[in-house]
Amino acid sequence: MRGYHAPASRANIVPTSRRQALACRRGSHCRMSPLEASTRICDVLVAGSGAAGFAAALTAHLAGLDVIMVEKEPELGGTTAYSAGVIWIPVSAGIRDSRERALAYLAHHVGNRLDRAKAEAYVDNAHAMLDLFERKAFVAYTLAPTWADYHPGEPGALRGGRSLVPDECDGRELGPWFARLRPPIKTMMAFGGMMVGRNDLPHVFQMTQRPQSALHVAGMVARYARDRLTHSRGTRLVNGNALIARLAVSALQRDIPLWLSSPIVELYTEQGHVAGAFIAREDGRVLVHARRGVVLACGGFPGNDSLKQRVYGHVSAGKSHASLPPPGNTGDGLRLAQSVGGRFLDEVHQPAAWTPVSLVPQPDGSTIPFPHFFDRGKPGYISVDRRGRRFVNEARSYHVYVPAMLEACRNDADAEAWIVCDHAAIRRFGLGALGPAPMRIGPFLQSGYIRRSDSVRGLAQVCGIDADGLERTLLEFNGPAQRGEDPEFDRGSDAYQRFNGAPGHEPNPCIAPLALPPYYAVRVIPSELGTFAGIATNADAQVVDREGKPVPGLYAVGNDAASVMGGTYPGAGITIGPAMTFGYIAARHMAGAARQKAFAAA
Ligand SMILES: Cc1cc2nc3c(=O)[nH]c(=O)nc-3n(C[C@H](O)[C@H](O)[C@H](O)COP(=O)(O)OP(=O)(O)OC[C@H]3O[C@@H](n4cnc5c(N)ncnc54)[C@H](O)[C@@H]3O)c2cc1C
Repeated sequence: MRGYHAPASRANIVPTSRRQALACRRGSHCRMSPLEASTRICDVLVAGSGAAGFAAALTAHLAGLDVIMVEKEPELGGTTAYSAGVIWIPVSAGIRDSRERALAYLAHHVGNRLDRAKAEAYVDNAHAMLDLFERKAFVAYTLAPTWADYHPGEPGALRGGRSLVPDECDGRELGPWFARLRPPIKTMMAFGGMMVGRNDLPHVFQMTQRPQSALHVAGMVARYARDRLTHSRGTRLVNGNALIARLAVSALQRDIPLWLSSPIVELYTEQGHVAGAFIAREDGRVLVHARRGVVLACGGFPGNDSLKQRVYGHVSAGKSHASLPPPGNTGDGLRLAQSVGGRFLDEVHQPAAWTPVSLVPQPDGSTIPFPHFFDRGKPGYISVDRRGRRFVNEARSYHVYVPAMLEACRNDADAEAWIVCDHAAIRRFGLGALGPAPMRIGPFLQSGYIRRSDSVRGLAQVCGIDADGLERTLLEFNGPAQRGEDPEFDRGSDAYQRFNGAPGHEPNPCIAPLALPPYYAVRVIPSELGTFAGIATNADAQVVDREGKPVPGLYAVGNDAASVMGGTYPGAGITIGPAMTFGYIAARHMAGAARQKAFAAA
């Protein structure tokens, strides 16, 4: 990635074409002044350095194409760097799965929003994409055999094997680029800089009970302490940070130029083809000619408030919402695609991938969201609305939880809920950003993040929940919970819910009565993990217009493209899996077009 520090090298700067220079001078064709008229030429220009952008860039490079990557922010990795990095790959090796079975699941779950051609392209290419990156690049994944699809009772679903977890990565592999890797969300790191991965969590939850777990956690902490002597944070990378580090190392090894702080700002067209784009750099605008095409991988529009007002119902109703993705994902890809005839597709089940978040107060008075992926479905927790009523099976996916919460709060001034637990649960599993014992509860109480009371009524009062309602709910829940039952929502009734429960907790790994005071609660509101509505694309990842015709030379992948899942969330990894797969598909399509041109010329 030699392009980061140095401006475009002289050798690579070519004069603008006469026609273009004239147009620029007239100011009619582009907004560049002649002084700014430096240009670069490549085969493929990729905008965005998340999973989708890296996958497109690497595949194009592996196919022999000349690639330039540009990134708007001073850090690389986008939302992917914040994520768990999990990918959903149907028909993985060693798993009893089939193309037909995976498609049956998607057809059933996504229903009439399924774009069959795109779904087939995904299922047919996902495994090949991963195989290519594992063989020819530095990407490494491990299959999670018991991580069930999120709706395991539906036709075609599997009880495990389609979700894969990125292998950890040593951040030192990145050399000086480590400092440019977007760190995880602050509230998701321990001690302000230590990453905890999905595979570490069982050890964290059992560190006071199992010697092996205590050793594992001690090893993590010791490594972190050593790292802090030389680095601003831990270099043991897991989750999305590990994925982005691995993709970036692969690009680094291949000398793919990656320009940071260099947003794509305008597309450049020639005779109806997208033939490049203007990039805003510190030293002026650069026109990058892209012979084969431009890939928009700008991560959707979670940072675009006016668009969210338009498509998020609860935001347009003035209700609370917090965004987890980085603020730079402002829908630039969408705006650019629309500028050349691309279509915004918002006919999706949900406009975004939802999760409940709590807001963790910071010393400067601001708050940082924390996503509640796991705690709410563990034994000893329930979720209630302001009336003190449960509204959802808490162990179901985050994308199910939020719509249920929005429905429960439909007639309320705000969209909010409380995750409530007892003392036994909070010490064993923690609550939101508060980890399990021996982490201290005190600071989280003092900051107001967590509320506590010795009685159920007292807890209701400090949260502003209806006390009679909460008392009634706990009475109704606790009786059957002693037998591991949940007559109201049947919590723990499928493989996905049990996967996230407490292993060995009998008779139901997702249920325990809330019986040991004091009681605790944290307030949650809706957030998105990324947007699902996006640019309409076809099975080759080409941007299409209102008639469904491709806009030549323009591709959209990742969250810039409308979700292949039609706004549903069938399993862990269903945004990054398609992001990487359609990045791969887009690049192969461009490489194919290049080969065909070469054949035609021969
Ligand atoms: C906490 C958390 C956990 C998650 N876990 C998972 C998970 O395990 N599995 C899963 O599938 N999904 C997960 N998600 C969702 C997932 O992270 C995103 O859907 C996915 O990373 C989007 O990838 P992307 O490449 O499209 O965009 P991003 O990773 O957001 O990358 C887009 C990049 O484009 C850049 N950009 C924006 N505008 C421009 C411009 N004009 N020019 C150049 N660059 C630009 C941005 O700065 C950004 O770096 C999670 C999300 C969160 C927040």
